[in-house]
Amino acid sequence: MRLSRKTKQKKLLRELVKKQNSFFSAKELHKKAQQIEEDIGIATVYRFLKKEVAALRLHSYICQRRQVYSKHKTHCHFIDEETGKIKHFDLDSIDFIANKIPGKVTSINIEVKGRFN
Ligand SMILES: [Zn+2]
Repeated sequence: MRLSRKTKQKKLLRELVKKQNSFFSAKELHKKAQQIEEDIGIATVYRFLKKEVAALRLHSYICQRRQVYSKHKTHCHFIDEETGKIKHFDLDSIDFIANKIPGKVTSINIEVKGRFN
């Protein structure tokens, strides 16, 4: 049985996302998908991402005015107040905050300000 074009494209997007280890934008994912399947449209990518976010398989964040996606439940910035430069950091556990939330935590976006060493 041949897979429909839509099913094939969804499968491709899923495989590409699996290989992503950090944050990526819809445009970046689209570019990668186009290298394999030229006729994939950006609307298909946006639709796919929207569904993945709704299903909690991906999380969306705003990173420096860009919308980015990730499999990770946390997106953390450490911002140097003097220069405005940003470094990303990871949390090993979200227990410290999950314990304080009256419900299920699906993702965390943290902005920490200070001075770089
Ligand atoms: Zn970021």
